Amino acid sequence: MDSQLWHCSDCGDEREFVQPPCVDGHTEDGGECPEWACADCGAALVLGVVGVPEVHGLRHAA
Ligand SMILES: [Zn+2]
Ligand SMILES: [Zn+2]
Repeated sequence: MDSQLWHCSDCGDEREFVQPPCVDGHTEDGGECPEWACADCGAALVLGVVGVPEVHGLRHAA
């Protein structure tokens, strides 16, 4: 399984993130699921359109 190292805001440190089995159909058409989960605490991370992890609550109005 793929894994990536990102900063987990819940753990407050770098953690390994893994992709849980997609249940939203993202991969049904051959695409990649943008959802990752911290392997340590399970916090969810959703990748933004430019591939940068989007932290919940930090959305800016266009
Ligand atoms: Zn998905
Ligand atoms: Zn974590």
